[in-house]
Amino acid sequence: MAIRAGRLAIAGARRGMHALVDLVLPPSCLGCRAPIAPGDGLCAVCWPELEFIEAPLCDISGLPFVFDPGAGMISAAALARPPVAARMRAAVRYGDVSRRMVHGLKYRDRMEFADTIARLTARAGRELLGDAQLIVPVPLHRGRLWQRRYNQSAIVAQRLGAACALPVDLHNLRRNRRTRAQVGLKMAERRRNVRRAFTVADDSGDAFAGLNIVLVDDVITTGATLDACADALYAHGAARVDALAFAMVCEPVSPGS
Ligand SMILES: [Zn+2]
Repeated sequence: MAIRAGRLAIAGARRGMHALVDLVLPPSCLGCRAPIAPGDGLCAVCWPELEFIEAPLCDISGLPFVFDPGAGMISAAALARPPVAARMRAAVRYGDVSRRMVHGLKYRDRMEFADTIARLTARAGRELLGDAQLIVPVPLHRGRLWQRRYNQSAIVAQRLGAACALPVDLHNLRRNRRTRAQVGLKMAERRRNVRRAFTVADDSGDAFAGLNIVLVDDVITTGATLDACADALYAHGAARVDALAFAMVCEPVSPGS
C-alpha cells in the first residue's frame, strides 16, 4: 500500500512537472517565438510571411520565373552558368522568418523546427525525391559539428529519408578542412573557399556509383557549396545529383530563349 501510494505520488509529481514546464515554456512560434497552440509551428503572423517558391520555375535552378513561359523552361542565368547539380529546388525564399527558423535549428537546438522544415522541404522536392535512390546531406566539418552538437542538414535529411523510404548516407561525403564561414563573401570568394573542400571517404567503395542522389542543405545562397559537393559525388560515379534545400536566396528570373 505504501509502495502504491509512493508511485501515485511520483506520477502526480511528474504530471505537475509537465504542467509546470508547459506553463513556463508554452509552445512558441518558430518564426517569432510568440506563444502558439501546440503543433502549429508558426503563428498566424509568421505563416503568411514565409514566401513559398511556387511554379512556374526554372527546371534547372528552381528559381521562380517572372512570367509563365510554359513547362520545362530553363532560365537565361542557368543556361549561361549551369549549376553542377542537375536540378535545384527549395521550399521558401530566404527571408526573415525562414532565416529565424534555420537559425533556430542550427544554433538553438530547437528540434521541433526540424519537423516543419523537413515537411516543407519534402513538398518542394517531391519530384527530385521521387527519382532518387539515396539522400546525402551537406556535411559539416567535425570541428563545427562538435561546436553545434549536430548537423542540421543531416537531421532534415534523415527525416526526408524516413518520409520517402530512402536510405541516407551520413558517412561517405566529407568536408576536408574548415572553410571560412561563407557569410559576407562574394561569389568568386565563396567558390574559392569551398573548392576541393569535400571528398569521399577512402573506404566508401561504390557508395555513390550509378545512383540518383539528392543532396540536402538548409539554405542555398550562391550554390557554391552544392556545386563542390555535387562535383565530389559525380567524381565517385553518381549517375545524377539533384540538390534540395529548405530556403534559397532568390529573385524571380527570366526564361532563356
Ligand atoms: Zn510568429
